[in-house]
Amino acid sequence: MSEIFEILQLGHPLLRQTAEPIVAISESSFQSQLDALLEFVLARGGMGIAAPQVGISQQFFILSSHPNARYPYAPQVEPFVVINPVITSSSATQTKDWEGCLSLPGIRALVPRFDYVDVRYQTHLGETIETRYEGFLARVFQHELDHLHGKVFLDRVETTLDVMMEQEWQRQIVSQRS
Ligand code: ZN
Repeated sequence: MSEIFEILQLGHPLLRQTAEPIVAISESSFQSQLDALLEFVLARGGMGIAAPQVGISQQFFILSSHPNARYPYAPQVEPFVVINPVITSSSATQTKDWEGCLSLPGIRALVPRFDYVDVRYQTHLGETIETRYEGFLARVFQHELDHLHGKVFLDRVETTLDVMMEQEWQRQIVSQRS
């Protein structure tokens, strides 16, 4: 039953497009798409995925968080759907931390992100949520939101000296944490 999604890789033009807003959240075809993508994220154990990454050029993403070897400080948050998101306000300060992306496998980079973001979005039920995310969730939210506007984390990197290949990152960074 689980739909198999193909993850688009950097270079695919769809990853560089601005996605379309969702107007009919309650529509059954959209709802089944959401269910399939949620299931996919649960199965992959990822921290999130944006619709354009699986070839759907629409304004939604799945946000999820759980501690693992790569991100031991990540909070435990069950996957949830974020539709038509906007950042309404953000912290004056930014912090750099490591990011990776299913669409850029093998690459890790230090990416500056706002420490907190005030956001507005709609749930899978069409309810409007206004809330603040900080720390790790704020980072994942900003990363996924970028995908809806044709941006990837490498676009935010300050210097190529902040980019590492996965193998070196594992050796130097992840192993230091445990
Ligand atoms: Zn990504």
